[in-house]
Amino acid sequence: MDFVGSHILSVDQFARGDIDRLFAVADALEPFARRDRITRVLQGAILSNMFFEPSTRTRVSFGCAFNRLGGDVRETTEVKASALAKGESLHDTARVLSGYSDVIVMRHPQEGSVAEFASASRVPVINAGDGANEHPSQALLDLYTVRQEIRAQGRGMDGLRIAVVGDLKFGRAVHSLLKLLALFERISVNLVSPPGLEAPPDVVSVLADAGHDIGVHHDLGEGIHHVDILYVTRTQEERFASPEEADRYRGLFRVNEAIYTEHCEPNTVIMHPLPRDSRAQAQELDEDLNANPNLAIFRQTDNGVVVRMALFAMVLDVVDQVQDHARPVTWYTAKRTPAARHL
Ligand code: ASP
Repeated sequence: MDFVGSHILSVDQFARGDIDRLFAVADALEPFARRDRITRVLQGAILSNMFFEPSTRTRVSFGCAFNRLGGDVRETTEVKASALAKGESLHDTARVLSGYSDVIVMRHPQEGSVAEFASASRVPVINAGDGANEHPSQALLDLYTVRQEIRAQGRGMDGLRIAVVGDLKFGRAVHSLLKLLALFERISVNLVSPPGLEAPPDVVSVLADAGHDIGVHHDLGEGIHHVDILYVTRTQEERFASPEEADRYRGLFRVNEAIYTEHCEPNTVIMHPLPRDSRAQAQELDEDLNANPNLAIFRQTDNGVVVRMALFAMVLDVVDQVQDHARPVTWYTAKRTPAARHL
């Protein structure tokens, strides 16, 4: 695909070569994400960061990514703080905002809403999550992390064994990640969920059509056996008809150090798109795993910035200019350990 000027709405847009190119740019931007160097290549550019659903990581890391490239960020974080609350259509909001900014990042609770918004926008729009549908930038940073972790073990992506655990029905991060994994060779995927929260058939068929090995499990221990990556997700309570319905699933699959040690291999990497639900009734990824060196969740969050920088650099066509606008950092920067184990 041609990234320049494109909307990034779904991982369906990417071929494997596109991912390779994006990750090569991300690798080159690591010193800037790490604050060893700074660049002002996007000086004068404006990002509209529109989040109509709760977000910490995605919103802040998109903003930081743009700032790290030298651009400015304008944020709207609630429907009630925008004219959507006065009945304005996505079309009109898109026409207006695209007159104010150079690129727009948007999260919205309705599936397909970001694509609808993008069709009226005069500038590129990046989907930061549309309902239970997709979360492309999360999947890209997850894949970047998988690649980094697996590389550190001296292996490549092809032949990867992964278990995805939890709410696979509503988890948009999982939907996008599974579709991206289908681009690789000989992937073995265990889909581990409570009955009723299985992955949507259209997502599973992307993997099946590409000839990958798929196992469906309703038993946690069985499902996470012999995998390279254990990817745990949260019950997406906001997508259920009522909180009581979500409660029926909460806490059914809890991964902790004892379960990990019993079922996983010594170097199985533990991932989660976050937030992990750490309330007593959930504890899907127990805090007793915090000292486990294979817990990659904060390496994932660190990678969110550099992967989103790469997306901006490619969409706004400044990849070749980054170094021209670069210089060493001038302020004290803390050493980034231990989250950045492999950097
Ligand atoms: N932060 C991710 C998302 O927005 C995962 C989650 O919320 O569970 O989809």
